[in-house]
Amino acid sequence: MTSIASHKKAKALKPGSRRPAKELCSECGLCDTYYVHYVKEACAFLNQQVAELEEEAHGRSRNLDSEDDWYFGVHQDMMAARKKQPIEGAQWTGIVSTIACEMLDRGLVEGVVCVQNTKEDRFQPMPVIATTPEEVLAAKVNKPTLSPNLSVLEQIEKSGMKRLLVIGVGCQIQALRTVEKQLGLEKLYVLGTPCVDNVNRAGLQKFLETTSKSPDTVVHYEFMQDFRVHFKHEDGSIEQVPFFGLKTNLLKDVFAPSCMSCFDYVNSLGDLIVGYMGAPFGWQWIVVRNNTGQEMLDLVMDKLDTQPVFSQGDRKQAVQQSIPAYDKGVTLPMWAAKLMGVVIEKIGPKGLEYARFSIDSHFTRNYLYVKRNYPEKLNDHVPKYAKKIVGQYKLPKS
Ligand code: FAD
Ligand code: SF4
Repeated sequence: MTSIASHKKAKALKPGSRRPAKELCSECGLCDTYYVHYVKEACAFLNQQVAELEEEAHGRSRNLDSEDDWYFGVHQDMMAARKKQPIEGAQWTGIVSTIACEMLDRGLVEGVVCVQNTKEDRFQPMPVIATTPEEVLAAKVNKPTLSPNLSVLEQIEKSGMKRLLVIGVGCQIQALRTVEKQLGLEKLYVLGTPCVDNVNRAGLQKFLETTSKSPDTVVHYEFMQDFRVHFKHEDGSIEQVPFFGLKTNLLKDVFAPSCMSCFDYVNSLGDLIVGYMGAPFGWQWIVVRNNTGQEMLDLVMDKLDTQPVFSQGDRKQAVQQSIPAYDKGVTLPMWAAKLMGVVIEKIGPKGLEYARFSIDSHFTRNYLYVKRNYPEKLNDHVPKYAKKIVGQYKLPKS
């Protein structure tokens, strides 16, 4: 007699109903499926368990005595890379989409969980299980909004797929790793991206309207290593706004509470991570966490130019000085912001040191946010590695 797995008797929460993580919910999609059964254990905002899941996924958790491990998570290789022939319209050069297409083409996986957009709105995420390279390519470029990627998990079990690639950000991947064994797969590959400062769709609109001169024509944007936000517009033009000129007073409540309390910027649990922040401008940053990640990267190495990662400058003072500004929502006039951007670009942190600058700035801000708004969660929710990072700085008392 076969027994039905207990999660299959559970019911997905109805759209619009309050999620167990309440306002901290990042809409990862788990609760839209019968895997809601595991939510107390799986949700990144209810149960922080990065070290335990690192052990399971990579065979060890990060070593806090090695600075690279401490900051960037468990890894066996790191490099900067870019596609020799970039994919037109991808977020960067399209390494993520290329790996996913190769994996389907070579029959390594039967499906790829990725995020397309709805017909009506280029920024409204629509998670799918792509089964052809065309469907993967239709998901290229970031949808810079919270995306319920895991909402398709029920379909995987029902479809009988045995080999799957999931592309996703840290909170999605933590929940995925927790329910991985329940999915009935023979092999799961996880291609992660770093993620920070995400927003819901209304928040995105506010950010675009507050920051860009032409919000309706923005096709994508990125917080770049040159300390500017680069907006790409429909006509191909690039608008640059210095970080220090952002109207932080108006943007204070824009970022989702989940992202203001997240300490998994680098996506600790993916097999292979593809971002940009540890690489020189124009290049992507690759972190290979385990052998599965290496297997995925090997598929596309002949299509990439690569170079070693490097580190230059000293971030500490810039981070310490930005803590009160972040905290009080100070905005510099645009001329001063531009000047500061130019100076920092010339003498400021570069390569891995830029990545550390960004991690330090976000973790100190988020630590203060959790301390103020959820003091009862602070101790368990902030992982050890993040406490050590935050501990390097002097924080305001209240
Ligand atoms: P492409 O080939 O264009 O593919 C992009 C992939 O992203 C697609 O497969 C799609 O399924 C997936 N995707 C799109 N939107 C979402 C979403 N909302 N949630 C989950 N998956 C999505 N890198 C950094 O180094 N620092 C950062 O601060 C940073 N922030 C990010 C914030 C978000 C919300 C996202 C989605 C990514 C972020 N990244 C960050 C990663 C970076 O912007 C690029 O996505 C990455 O380098 C891959 O570029 P690509 O050209 O290879 O991707
Ligand atoms: Fe559920 Fe995901 Fe929201 Fe947590 S973040 S409450 S798992 S939908």
